[in-house]
Parts: sequence; C-alpha cells; structure tokens
Amino acid sequence: MSDQFDVVVIGGGPAGYPAAIRAAQNKLSVACIDEWQNRDGSHAFGGTCLNAGCIPSKALLESSELVHRAQHEFKAHGISVGTVEVDIAGMQKRKAAIVRQSTQGILALFKSAGVTPLQGHGRLLPGLKVEFTAHDGAKRTLQAKHVILASGSQPMELKSAPFDGRHVVDSWGALDFDAVPKRLGVIGAGVIGLELGSVWRRLGAEVVVLEALPDFLPMADGQVSKEALRHFRKLGLDIRLGAKVTGASVAGGEVTVAYTDAKGEQPVVVDRLVVAIGRRPYTRDLLAEGTGVALDERGFVQVDEHCRTGAKGVWAVGDCVRGPMLAHKGKEEGVAVADAIAGLYAEVNYKVIPSVIYSAPEIAWVGLTEEQVKASGRAYKVGSFPFAASGRARAMEATAGFCKVVAAVDNDEILGVHIIGPMAGEMIAEAVLAMEYSASSEDLQRTIHAHPTLSEALHEAALAADKRAIDCLNK
Ligand code: FAD
Ligand code: AMP
Repeated sequence: MSDQFDVVVIGGGPAGYPAAIRAAQNKLSVACIDEWQNRDGSHAFGGTCLNAGCIPSKALLESSELVHRAQHEFKAHGISVGTVEVDIAGMQKRKAAIVRQSTQGILALFKSAGVTPLQGHGRLLPGLKVEFTAHDGAKRTLQAKHVILASGSQPMELKSAPFDGRHVVDSWGALDFDAVPKRLGVIGAGVIGLELGSVWRRLGAEVVVLEALPDFLPMADGQVSKEALRHFRKLGLDIRLGAKVTGASVAGGEVTVAYTDAKGEQPVVVDRLVVAIGRRPYTRDLLAEGTGVALDERGFVQVDEHCRTGAKGVWAVGDCVRGPMLAHKGKEEGVAVADAIAGLYAEVNYKVIPSVIYSAPEIAWVGLTEEQVKASGRAYKVGSFPFAASGRARAMEATAGFCKVVAAVDNDEILGVHIIGPMAGEMIAEAVLAMEYSASSEDLQRTIHAHPTLSEALHEAALAADKRAIDCLNK
C-alpha cells in the first residue's frame, strides 16, 4: 500500500469522515486515520457523534419519549395500555444496533468513495508527514500534500468531582446506564445535561440539575428559554440555577454533591452523577515539535476563517477548532476544506448554523435572538405563532410552545428564527434555508405551506411580524 496521499485526515468523526469522502469525490487520494475505541475494546469510525453523542442520545431520547407518551398522552387519544413496562436492556440493545449500523456505514461509504481507512493513532510531523501507529503498534510514516486535523473534543472533568466510571460519569457513561438510577444528579444545564436528564427522568429517575449560571439556557432567545424552563420543570427536572458545584464524594454507593447557591453551601445526595459541564478540544499527542500548528490559550487548534492553520497545507475542522461544538458545523467545515484543497468554491456560513435541543417540546433556533438584535440597536419586528393555534399540533396532542420570527424593519431581512414545539429541529431547516438565501419575512409570508402542517406555524409567525397572521390574534 502506498504511503503517499493527496490528503490525510486525522480523526474520523462527523468533521473528519465527510472531509475524507468529499476529498475522494474531488478525485484526490485520501487516507482517514481514526483511533476511536469503544468500551468493549472494539474500534469504529464516527467519533463522539456516532459512538457516544448525537446518535445514541437521540436513540434513547426517542425511546424514553415513547414511554412518556404512553404513560401520559395515550389516554387523551382514547388509548389505554395498562402499565407500561420498560426493558432498559432492550432499549440499550436497540441503541447499540443503531450506533453499529451508523458506524459500519462509514466504512461502506469509504469503500465506495475510495478512501483508505486506517485505524490507529495519527500524529502530524513537520513537512506534511503523518506518523500512523496502528492499534497493534505497527508504525508507518505517510506523506501528504494536505493534512486535515479533525481530532474532536472530550468531556471536561470537574476536578472536585472526578469521573470514576460508575457513580460519577461523563455523558457517554450516562448513555450506558444498565438500570434507571433512583436519584440522578446532573451538573450543567447545557444541551447535553438537559437531554440526558430528560431521558432518565422520563424513565422514572428523580433528577436534580445543578447549574452555576443564574440564567437558564442563556444562549437561546429569552422567551424560548423561559418557556423551556417551564416545560423541563413540568417534566419533573429539579433545575437549580445559580448552583455551583464545589465537590462530590462517593461512599456506600451514594454520591454526595456539594454546591453553593445564594443560601450558602448545600448538599444533595444521588445514586449517580453525570458531569456535563462542557467539552474541551482533544489534541493529545496530535502535533510533533516543529509542525508550525499552534493551539490557542483554551487548547483549540488555531485557524483562520477558512480553517487554515499556521502551517501551509495543514487545515483543522470540527470540535478541535473555534465555534460551536456541533456535528453539522464540523461537517460543513470538513467538506469546505476538501473543496478548497481541490480548488473549488468553499465557504461556511457561520451566521446560519442551527442549534437544536432534542427535548419535548423540542427547541431549535438559527440566527440572532431578540436580545441580540435589540442590543445591536437595529430596529426590528417580531412575529410569534403559538402551536396551540395549529390544527396539526392539536391533532398531534403537541400544542406546547411557539414559533418566533425576528426581522429587520429597514429591509425586512429575517435575522433570527426561534422555535419551541413539536419537531422544531426539523422545522428549523426551512428557516436556515430562508436565511441562507437572505430571505425577507415577506418571502416566507408568500411561500405556500401545506395544510395542516407544523410548518404553517413558521409561515404564520412570519405573517405576524407584519400583523398579518390569519390563524392567531395579531398583537
Ligand atoms: P469527534 O466526533 O470527537 O471525532 C474525533 C475523532 O478523532 C474521534 O474518533 C477520535 O478518537 C479521533 N482522534 C482524535 N485524535 C486522534 C489522533 N491523534 N489520531 C487518530 N484519531 C484521533 N452535536 C450535534 O450537532 N447534534 C447533537 O444532537 C449532538 N448531541 C450530542 C450528544 C452528546 C451526548 C455529546 C457528547 C455530543 C453531542 N453533539 C451533538 C456534539 C457532537 O458529537 C460533536 O460536535 C461532534 O462529534 C464533533 O465532531 P468532530 O469530528 O470534530 O469530533
Ligand atoms: P455546555 O457548555 O452548553 O455543555 O453547558 C455546560 C454547563 O455547565 C454550563 O451552563 C455551565 O455554566 C455549567 N457548569 C460548569 N461548571 C459548573 C459547576 N461547577 N457547577 C454547576 N454548573 C456548572
């Protein structure tokens, strides 16, 4: 096998593997190196997203949501199912099968695109060389014309509450519980903490979420976070804001978590503790001396707006570089870099990266929040439409939440769209497309939406921005 490639990608997660496939589609010779190891010792492409993040979490969110609906919503439909039995082993088996199918799919995609998969560790050497160490210890030095670093991120540990793999776990550990903990503690009310807290709460755990910040979901639109907090609390999550965890100790199979809030130091005792305080870039043993690639003060690989590092021919994408830690952001960067290497047009529009929280009701947004637009000083208008006024949402027994469009007064440009409600993560795609094409709220208003659909709520919210909504009061 040749050790010369046009492109060597280090990291086979959702940033690295699309970069490898697109580079191969661009008729370049490509190798993709990945060292992911599962807890059973097996290896798989797909990185955090497919093995321990997006995909397994969504599998469990779906299963646990079905349990919740069977217990709490079926009755409204006139369906009675008696006691709902939950088989955690069966649920976990389904999740594992979905993960396996997804990760094996990458190997099939590599095969058909002509990407060489290399499982083991990659380390960038000076002169666009990459040292590859296979899992059996065998080493090879690859020569590349371009190297794409896509080494991802890892969970942050709280020094005062270190992971022990059983009682104090990271998000991956919390996806693998083999039984529903009676009492679950979650540190951090970020997206990951809230999704995992929702899963285990719906399956019966008492869940307490400790969040250091005084505000809930501060990155979301204020109205959305307010509505979201109400629904998470209604689900039964005991969310304590302004609660900074200072330590945790394990004894007798219990975890005593200490936190401080306005009332001083407080203890809370749980059976399992998930630390979900954020993720940090992962670059362990990635860069040899003298490569010319720099890390910033927080450990991210330093790149410009086109994902170029300081070393010619070396690029970096995904969670290991600045920007939101989202799989789709990494994918766009990976694909754009592979196109740029091939001399094709490539650009990532960082202004329209959607965010989704897979709660129930789901939360999704793109662009600026109302607070951000207000702070910018630009005159704006807002249109909202409640799902309670949507025929489809009523038929689905899913009337919580609303759709909100924020648009500029001067040229009617859509500046942000914020949705909390059923299928928000799917609906936001229309807003992303609209904003990608710099659509005005009038463009959305004049676009025909099928009836009865949830997406009519977005249509009506755009109409409401000009007080022309048909199916709700124009306030
Ligand atoms: P990773 O997915 O971390 O992949 C990096 C890969 O590189 C890994 O396989 C790693 O082993 C390998 N690697 C690292 N260094 C080397 C080396 N030197 N040599 C060889 N291989 C190496 N994002 C979303 O957009 N939507 C979601 O719903 C979502 N849900 C999430 C849920 C959870 C519980 C978690 C933890 C994360 C979630 N994320 C979600 C975030 C998402 O998983 C990450 O943003 C995404 O995986 C980042 O992709 P990446 O390719 O940059 O890195
Ligand atoms: P995210 O970065 O979105 O994954 O969210 C992580 C959350 O954890 C943030 O909202 C942080 O404020 C919160 N957090 C970080 N450290 C602590 C701590 N010691 N105690 C409680 N919450 C914390």
